[in-house]
Amino acid sequence: MPEDHYTAMRHRMVETQIAARGVSDSRVLAAMKKVPRHRFIPSALWDQAHGDYPLPIGEDQTISQPYIVALMTEMLELKDTDRVLEIGTGSGYQAAILAELAAHVYTMDRVGSLLAQAERVLASLGYTNITTRVGDGTLGWPEEMPFEAIIVTAGAPQVPRPLTEQLALGGRLVIPVGDRWSQTLTCVRKTTEGLKFESHGGCRFVRLIGEYGWQEAGWL
Ligand code: SAH
Repeated sequence: MPEDHYTAMRHRMVETQIAARGVSDSRVLAAMKKVPRHRFIPSALWDQAHGDYPLPIGEDQTISQPYIVALMTEMLELKDTDRVLEIGTGSGYQAAILAELAAHVYTMDRVGSLLAQAERVLASLGYTNITTRVGDGTLGWPEEMPFEAIIVTAGAPQVPRPLTEQLALGGRLVIPVGDRWSQTLTCVRKTTEGLKFESHGGCRFVRLIGEYGWQEAGWL
């Protein structure tokens, strides 16, 4: 398929799935139209790249539904001077969206093979403001703190304390919190009066596994 086919598919995806459901931040909508989503998934699935659902990316992991990527990004209220931490690089797609909107993106995954594939795609698209690392993201990235924005793209049993500690004053942390099957999109804001929590509806993510997340072998 020629590239303009995918461009047209992305524009339709943004109009029918994202703007239609109330995401209105024009910078977020422009980034979702620009980043070539199909490049982040296996080529056998390219004809489904713009479907209104998550897709498998290997290692039992998924690239999130386009609407959820847009909604979480809008919740982060990014400025182009912000430094962002992402936990759960997966395909690298969300990292690319963040890199369009912020100064620098630090992104971590616990699975090295996924990170290596994401690095290849991000480099081939020319991103130079993304730094990657393998490790347990529930511990954050203390060497680079504080972050104006932190996004966790795996479902957590609770908000990991290291992440709120690494948030800048005025910073926003967006994270799905709940049980294994369903979570609530939660925004934690660090203010001079302490942490403020807001809920933004239901979602379903793969599990965040780590010291401040789920235990690897556990069923719940
Ligand atoms: N943001 C991704 C989707 C992520 S899927 C995208 O745009 O494609 C969730 C990812 O979280 C998986 O790749 C999984 O390996 C990772 N993950 C789970 N627990 C983690 C942890 N403690 N630290 C870092 N990554 C973790």
